[in-house]
Amino acid sequence: MKPPAFEYLAPVSLEAAVAALSNEDAKVLAGGQSLVPMMNFRLLAPSLLVDISRIPDLAYITEDGDGLRIGAMTRHHAVEMSDVVRQRFPVLHAAMAHVAHLAIRNRGTIGGSLCHGDPAAEWPGLVLLLNAQLKTTKRTIPAGDFYHGALATDLADDEILIEIQFPGLAPGTGWGFEEMARRSGDFALAAVAATICLSDDRATEVRIVVIGAHATPLRLTAAEGLLTDHVSIGAAADAAMQEISPDSDLHASADYRRHLVGVLTKRALAAAWKRAA
Ligand SMILES: Cc1cc2nc3c(=O)[nH]c(=O)nc-3n(C[C@H](O)[C@H](O)[C@H](O)COP(=O)(O)OP(=O)(O)OC[C@H]3O[C@@H](n4cnc5c(N)ncnc54)[C@H](O)[C@@H]3O)c2cc1C
Repeated sequence: MKPPAFEYLAPVSLEAAVAALSNEDAKVLAGGQSLVPMMNFRLLAPSLLVDISRIPDLAYITEDGDGLRIGAMTRHHAVEMSDVVRQRFPVLHAAMAHVAHLAIRNRGTIGGSLCHGDPAAEWPGLVLLLNAQLKTTKRTIPAGDFYHGALATDLADDEILIEIQFPGLAPGTGWGFEEMARRSGDFALAAVAATICLSDDRATEVRIVVIGAHATPLRLTAAEGLLTDHVSIGAAADAAMQEISPDSDLHASADYRRHLVGVLTKRALAAAWKRAA
C-alpha cells in the first residue's frame, strides 16, 4: 500500500524543525524504517513530515569522560561498526546484530527507534540497562522516565530527541545480551540484557532488563536483588519469570514468553558473571 498524501519539509536547523512541528499532525521523519511502514499500512496519516536528516551534527559517537554521547540521527550500523562502542559498551555492539537486517540498520536511527518505542525493539531496553539520559530540544529525560507504554513516550509533539548520553560503566563490569526471534532480523519474541559488577567474587551491582515481554522495557529488580544477596543465578532467573506478566499474541503465548525470559535471564547472567570475573 502507498501512504496517504502528505506535505514534506527538510529544514536545515533544529529551530526550523521545531517550528515546523507546531503544525497540526506534523511528524518527525528520521530513517523512515518504522514511520513509513506505519503510513503505508494507514496506521498513521501525518499531514506533514519534517525530515531531520539534513540538519547537521545530529549523527556522531563521541567519548565523554568514561561514557559516550551518541547523536539521535546515528544509524544502527554506525554503532555496530564503532570501535569505541565495542571497547566501552560491548553490550551495545552485541545487541546491534539483532536489530533488523543490515539494509534497515543502514537507514534506521537510534533516535527513531527510541522515539518509536516498539516494546520488542532493542534500543529502549539498552538505554534503560545503561542508565542513559535522553537529551531533547527542551530537556534531558532519564531513560527510566521516557516510556508511558507501547509506542508512547514522554516527548511533546514539537520536541525532538537530539542525543543519548551513556554514563561510563564501572571497570570490569560484565555483560550479557540474549535474544530469541523467529528468524534472524525479526523483532525479538523476548530478549534479556544484564550487567554485573563483582567484588571478591560477589555481585555488588546487578542490572537486568527484559525486552518484548511488557509494553515497555522492564528492570527486573527482584531478580537483581536476589543476585546481590548471593542467591544463585537459577533462583534469579526463576524470580525473573515471576516478575513479568507477558501477553499472548500472534507470535508466542504468554507461557512461552515467560519460559523464554527464564532461559534468557539465566544465559545473560551467566555470560555477564563470566565476563566480570
Ligand atoms: C522489516 C523490519 C524489521 C525491523 N526489525 C527490528 C528489530 O528487530 N529491532 C528493532 O529495534 N527495530 C527493528 N526495526 C525498526 C528499525 O530499527 C527502525 O530503524 C526504527 O524503529 C526507527 O528508526 P527510524 O530512524 O527509521 O525512525 P522513523 O521511522 O523515521 O521514525 C520512527 C518514529 O520516531 C519519531 N522520531 C524519529 N526520530 C525522532 C527524533 N529524533 N525525535 C523525535 N521523534 C523522532 C518519528 O516521528 C516516528 O514517530 C525493523 C524495521 C523493519 C522495517
